[in-house]
Amino acid sequence: MKIREQIEQFDSYDTDTADCEIKLNRNESPFDLPQSIKQRILDRIKETSLNRYPSRNSLSLCKKLSNYLGIGKDRLIVGNGSSELISHFFKLFSGTKIVMATPTFSMYKFYGQLERLNVVEIPLGKKFSLPTKEMKRHLKRARIFVVCSPNNPTGNVFPRDKIIELLETGKPVILDEAYQEFSECSHLDLIDRYENLIVLRTFSKAFSLAGARIGYAVADAKIIHNLLKIKPPYNINVLSMTAAEELLEHSSLLRQRIKYIVEERERLIAIFEDYCYPSEANFVLMNLDLFEYLKRRGVLVRSFSGRLKDKIRVTIGTKEENDQLIKAIKNANG
Ligand code: PMP
Repeated sequence: MKIREQIEQFDSYDTDTADCEIKLNRNESPFDLPQSIKQRILDRIKETSLNRYPSRNSLSLCKKLSNYLGIGKDRLIVGNGSSELISHFFKLFSGTKIVMATPTFSMYKFYGQLERLNVVEIPLGKKFSLPTKEMKRHLKRARIFVVCSPNNPTGNVFPRDKIIELLETGKPVILDEAYQEFSECSHLDLIDRYENLIVLRTFSKAFSLAGARIGYAVADAKIIHNLLKIKPPYNINVLSMTAAEELLEHSSLLRQRIKYIVEERERLIAIFEDYCYPSEANFVLMNLDLFEYLKRRGVLVRSFSGRLKDKIRVTIGTKEENDQLIKAIKNANG
């Protein structure tokens, strides 16, 4: 038996799971679902036949999402988390290069390598701007451009004209909007103009449903039609699908929670304005080398290597959690 050498060399995707009381390291929502909504999900599950496979293309959830977004369901696909969809989209097109601007979400590189693609990482420019000119130098062999906006882990959004510049090349562009709900900015409407645009979203962040693993993509019907051919059948289980469907009926709760997170984010940025990078997500990148210090005080944040090695990324938590974080940072800074 021989494991592929490349796979043996991979590190496993392990975020720090240290036993800290306050976990601000994975960009999750700090709020679980209210008991009343959980009860409604359970009631729905009681009416569901668990002995049957779910619909092959998550039909009922796609219908609900189609209403929620005002987009035809032939332009929607649901995945087992948006990460799963990233891996499938990387298989779909011709070309040998995946072109992205880094630092960004680490799974793009991982799935690119797994697919034996040439992963081109162009450093983000000043103020983490999108280096479209340098990215376009790889046009000829590009299989796909990947852009994350708001970008994880820097937190900034990229201007529309930069996204359009990439779209105008005609190559497929994945626009990962995992954190879009926390921002004023979305480019989803561009799918009416560009058949090469794929927008990715997730229920794991603003929708408080990371545990259920539901993500979705919006793209041209032809792309979706072909992606459906390669995605594993029945990839979304009925329990998660039921939870996601129920949640879509509680948009006012979601809006309320998003507002809370955004207000808390702005409070943190105002207190530490000298250390925070601008953010339109549910996390803030801070120019503070305090990972170990905070961990010792029971607050787990995210650390990095490379260009961001002396910085931390802090997920916005509840007001009480953020207060503890603020206190700890103030103590550290004397
Ligand atoms: N995209 C980005 C930018 C992310 O940060 C994450 C999760 N951290 C994902 C996609 C994956 O989300 P999920 O698989 O939970 O939908």
